[in-house]
Amino acid sequence: MHSRSGDLRFQAYGKQPAGMLSLLTPEEGGNSMPRAALNALLVHAAENLHGVEVRFEHRVDDCDLETGILTVLDPQGRQMTISGDVVIGADGTFSAIRRRMAQLPMFTLHQPRLEYGYKELHIPSGPDGDFLMEKHALHIWPRAGFIMSALPNFGGSFNCNLFLTVSTHWLVMLTWHAFSRKTFLT
Ligand SMILES: Cc1cc2nc3c(=O)[nH]c(=O)nc-3n(C[C@H](O)[C@H](O)[C@H](O)COP(=O)(O)OP(=O)(O)OC[C@H]3O[C@@H](n4cnc5c(N)ncnc54)[C@H](O)[C@@H]3O)c2cc1C
Repeated sequence: MHSRSGDLRFQAYGKQPAGMLSLLTPEEGGNSMPRAALNALLVHAAENLHGVEVRFEHRVDDCDLETGILTVLDPQGRQMTISGDVVIGADGTFSAIRRRMAQLPMFTLHQPRLEYGYKELHIPSGPDGDFLMEKHALHIWPRAGFIMSALPNFGGSFNCNLFLTVSTHWLVMLTWHAFSRKTFLT
């Protein structure tokens, strides 16, 4: 825990005593996986299934829920239709399939936006590939209206996540140097 005054405090959240916790071991570590690697793994697994055809850069524009016919735009913007016995909509937050389902009778769609935004930051390794902060820890800078965390990577760098309200975000970006010196002393 990184306090505003620059003090550091260790809080164990596993079974290991202070100083023994390693986020880099499978026994106690927080498991994380690069999103691109997970995507590639899933695509390869799907491709190996019988009857699966993967098409990239094809956007579902509309869906007829009665017939299961999809209207799709190819990378050149050409329209085509694809039909299936079962349609599984896995097209994320602004799903075209969900948008069409929302027009069904008795279907209520409630999709509020979070007040908070997210910025990924990077702390590089030291000159010899060494960690510039304790590597056996998840670093947290808790502040009143926002929070930053840093996770160690193999190779000495850290991935940081800064969560803060979208309105604060603009202020921070405009005054980043003064803000970071004042807020993240250590
Ligand atoms: C900043 C951030 C950090 C996160 N961190 C974590 C984390 O650490 N751990 C965790 O478990 N979760 C995390 N999440 C949440 C996680 O990413 C989501 O819950 C998850 O990705 C949702 O999966 P999904 O398949 O529903 O949608 P998505 O992952 O958004 O996938 C939707 C896919 O559909 C495609 N698509 C969209 N519209 C169309 C269309 N019209 N036609 C065709 N394709 C379309 C998109 O290109 C995308 O490939 C995080 C989310 C964010 C935003």
